[in-house]
Amino acid sequence: MIHPVAVLGGGLAGAATALRLAQAGLRPIWLAAETAGDFKPGEHLSAAAIPLLATLGSDAMLRSETHRQAHSTYSAWGSDRLVERNAIVQLEGPPIVLDRSAFEAALCAQAVAAGAERIACDVTDLSVAEGQWLLEAGQNRIKAGFVFDATGRKAVIASRVSPRFQADKLCCTYALYAKAKDLTPRPVTLIEATEHGWWYLSVLADQRLVLNYFTDADLASFPTADFEKQARGTEVISAYLMDYGYELSSRPGRITTNSSWISPVIGPGWAAVGDAAAAFDPLSSHGMTTALWTAIEAAEAFIAQDRPRMQSYAEAVARGVQDYLTARQAVYSRETRWPQSPFWARRHASTA
Ligand SMILES: Cc1cc2nc3c(=O)[nH]c(=O)nc-3n(C[C@H](O)[C@H](O)[C@H](O)COP(=O)(O)OP(=O)(O)OC[C@H]3O[C@@H](n4cnc5c(N)ncnc54)[C@H](O)[C@@H]3O)c2cc1C
Repeated sequence: MIHPVAVLGGGLAGAATALRLAQAGLRPIWLAAETAGDFKPGEHLSAAAIPLLATLGSDAMLRSETHRQAHSTYSAWGSDRLVERNAIVQLEGPPIVLDRSAFEAALCAQAVAAGAERIACDVTDLSVAEGQWLLEAGQNRIKAGFVFDATGRKAVIASRVSPRFQADKLCCTYALYAKAKDLTPRPVTLIEATEHGWWYLSVLADQRLVLNYFTDADLASFPTADFEKQARGTEVISAYLMDYGYELSSRPGRITTNSSWISPVIGPGWAAVGDAAAAFDPLSSHGMTTALWTAIEAAEAFIAQDRPRMQSYAEAVARGVQDYLTARQAVYSRETRWPQSPFWARRHASTA
């Protein structure tokens, strides 16, 4: 049997693509290993994502108590003075701090309920013969006419056939903290720039805390085992951890967060969506919104079998990448305290 359309990858982009296709009655085959319950960093959902979720009929899931509205973000960026950005000045409303695993699980369940046929295996091999994709996933050999690559930065299809560009080597060391004192923490997000990178702290709805440190992979100067010691050496972050008695509750992990993209993001029989198409620095809080937007746009073009619309999709992603690179440089250029630091110097040079 040849499936008209397959989706690869079980993150937000894969789930949203599978959902949109299923809602149009296409019954996509969806190849994505189960990751339910695994902690996944990246929880700040921009308010711009809410209308996209509404398009999918998924916005109600944000009202769960496992997520919280992010009214206050403070940053020490460009000086050691802590500056507040309050959601009251954001016309589109407050961002949401997600329980990321719960959110992804809910979107995946919605896609399956709508009719996506999920095979809980990753694709281990693929080839093209006579205009069909041959996909191997566990014991399954699947033929598909068109494939959506939603496999994140791995971009298992897209990076074979389209060049991948990267603007930096950003990576993230992350860990979870739990509260040891019986105090109610202020539900904040904090960002603190330091000489070789920047820290990000966000309090989840259940009062656990996520702490991330971003630097370049080739500058990552301490082993993950020293994460806690380094965190305690910060100003703002360490004061917050101390005030509310937060203690490390998970082993720190490290993950790539570089800015990278492919061009073009479509080709004969395939389209890339989400991070597989363009992956952004988490400072932008853009990744999840882009994952949803690309999934919806590319799926709609496929559903309509509208080639010019698919081409417009590819052009919009390419323009978005250029806009993003300009904005990224502007934000990093506001931090000038460490001109000798390679981390900051690299980002002050133009990449757009
Ligand atoms: C530390 C960190 C912090 C972040 N913070 C934020 C934030 O605050 N706000 C925000 O909007 N974004 C943030 N992001 C970015 C955001 O998480 C991503 O943009 C988003 O996850 C992209 O979704 P995706 O589905 O395209 O990719 P992914 O979430 O990477 O999902 C890809 C999926 O494909 C699967 N896969 C890989 N290979 C195969 C294969 N061979 N076969 C089948 N499946 C495969 C993977 O297992 C994975 O499940 C952050 C990212 C990181 C790493």
